[in-house]
This record gives sequence, structure tokens and C-alpha cells, in this order.
Amino acid sequence: MKIETLAIHAGNESDKSTGAVVQPITLSTTFLRGPQGDYPGGYMYSRAENPNRQALESVLTKLENGVDACAFASGNAAGMSVFQALEPGSHIICPDDMYHGLRNQLKLMFKGILTFDFIDFTDVELIFNTIKRETKLIWAETPSNPLMKLCDIGAIAHIAKEHQITFVIDNTFASPICQKPLDLGADMVMHSTTKFLNGHSDVSGGALITKEDTDLWKKIRIVQSYGGAIPSPFDCYLVTRGIKTLPYRMRGHVENATMLANYLENHPAVEAVFYPGLKSHPQHELAQKQMLSFGGMLSFLLKDGEEKAHSVVNSLKIFTQATSLGGVESLIEHRYSVEGPDTKTPKNLLRVSVGLEHIDDLIADLDAVL
Ligand SMILES: *Cc1c(COP(=O)(O)O)cnc(C)c1O
Repeated sequence: MKIETLAIHAGNESDKSTGAVVQPITLSTTFLRGPQGDYPGGYMYSRAENPNRQALESVLTKLENGVDACAFASGNAAGMSVFQALEPGSHIICPDDMYHGLRNQLKLMFKGILTFDFIDFTDVELIFNTIKRETKLIWAETPSNPLMKLCDIGAIAHIAKEHQITFVIDNTFASPICQKPLDLGADMVMHSTTKFLNGHSDVSGGALITKEDTDLWKKIRIVQSYGGAIPSPFDCYLVTRGIKTLPYRMRGHVENATMLANYLENHPAVEAVFYPGLKSHPQHELAQKQMLSFGGMLSFLLKDGEEKAHSVVNSLKIFTQATSLGGVESLIEHRYSVEGPDTKTPKNLLRVSVGLEHIDDLIADLDAVL
């Protein structure tokens, strides 16, 4: 089946007892036992499993062409479960522009337990040269946040496979509609479902999807059920509901982002625009090779520096000044002031999550303040 069909059907089981077409929300934390002490409904206790979580995991598996998925209470909890599943002393290679929340998680929570190198992921040879005997994980993010840098998923997957290193892609920025890392050779995909997958800026959630049921994956399941950073049944229901329109929402995000990128690129107040779909993007060719479409995220630099960046975000009327991304409403943000002093983000950069408003209104809003 095609992705539009899977998005609607793979996460929904109509209720046999009432005939409800949309799967109901199962709030019960505990489930009836049978005469032999068994669990005739297939469920025991909701930390371990829940019908709404199972529905969400089922549709996520299909969207990324995997064999299984684990849903979590946030994107960071999903990422953390991978780090927690590694043996102590393992070495991780990650991008120097890794999502700051996960970078800080590694630095603040896993220091002394795991070792890590943060390097430039556009340089495949550097990744190769950073591999040690203890390297167990290569963690990548493409396009990256907020500079929209790409890494070559196929080339890194090749190196990872040769060294029996697990290769995980944080696919949050692209979404499964715009990029399929498992098809390109990655072993696992991570999502902050808070973003495009839910798509309405009203749920925190995260997920991992795997290409194979490995020993590491079994350990991640243990982290999920015993660590307990699980999403609530209502959160699972909302994300599953959001996913039903994901393929159509992404078309709108991509269309608007493409037009906005072109507009910004031709504006005299703008120094540079970073969007993988632009010919001027330094890795446009790689984007065409590995992405199905170019996503709804872009960033740009203002010629007049940080002050102008602040005045722009403060004067816009339709774009909302806030962090996060992937919702129906357009968001704009000065990233440098969010990410902290060890960031590589330029001070005159604004990041835009291009929403689904009419493009004419978005451009008029920017035009009035630029
Ligand atoms: C938001 C985000 C995360 C973290 O997800 P939460 O749901 O906020 O925990 C991880 N990676 C990327 C690329 C993100 O944008």
C-alpha cells in the first residue's frame, strides 16, 4: 500500500464490541486475567503495553518501512533509550550540530558512562577516522538543526555496517514522507513525534523504528517497559490521529517552504538561505539523491546582524515567535539564544518552521518587516 493509505489505516483498529470505527482510547491501566491466570485480551498492565500505543507503533513501523517501533513520552526519551541500551564504556560518534537537547543529555547525564565525539558529519572520511574499537553507535541528524546541513546516509551506513556499528538517524526534520533512512541503509530511525508526526503542537512524544529485531532492540524494549518513559494512551491517540493527515500536510509544508525559500533568497536584506531544495544549497545534489522531498524547515541569515534578527521576529504578525516545529502554524525563532554558548549557530540566523497558512499571507508578513 502507498503511504497515504498506510497513514490512515495502519494505526487504527475498529472496536469489535461497539462497532466504533475510530479506535477508542483505552485508559485502563490493568487488564482482566483469565481462569488460568492468563491474559485473554492480550494485555496485562499499561506500562508494558497499551492498545493505543500499539496502534501508534504499528503505523510508525509502516511509515518508515521497519519491522518494529517503540513509542516514548518525548523525543529525548526515545534518544535516551538508545544510549541507555548501550553497554557502559561504549563510544558514540555524533554530529557537532546535534540537536542541543540530546547533545546536552549526553554531556550532562552520560559523562563517565559513555564516551562520545562530536564531529562534522558532512565529512565521511572524518567519521571513518573517528571509529574506535569501542564505537557502538553512529548517531546522525539530516537535515541538521538549524543549519540544514545534510549527511550522506548511504555512505555512512556502508562504513557502519563494515564495522558492525549501529547507525541511527534522527529523522525529525525530514519526516518519513520526505526521507526514508532505513531504505538508505540506516539501522534505526528516531523521531520527536512532537513535531511533524503529530503536527498540531499539542503533544510531546518520541519514537524509534528499527529495521531488524536485534539484541540492541530487545534492550530498548526493556528500557521502554522498565524505564517507563511511555506516552499516555491519549497522547498516542493524538499522534496516531495526526499521522492520518501527515502525507497531505507534508505536501503543503514543502510547497510553502519552497516558495518562502525562493522569496528569501531574492530579498536584499537576506545574506543566505539554507533549504535543501534550493540549487544554492551546498549539498543540493545529495538532497536530490537521498530525500523524497525537501521538508518544511529552513533557516536564513540577515545582513544586518543579530539586532535585525530580533526586530524581525518581534514585528511579524502571522509567524509566531516560539521554539519547536512541525505544526500547522508557522514558527520563527532566533536559535542562538536558545542553544547556549557552545552552539555553532550564527547570531544573525532565524529558523523557520513553515506552516500551512496561505503562502501569500506568509510572504506579505515577512515583506512588511524585512
Ligand atoms: C525536538 C527535537 C528532538 C527532541 O524531541 P522532544 O520531543 O522535544 O523531546 C530531537 N531531535 C530533533 C531534531 C528535534 O527537533
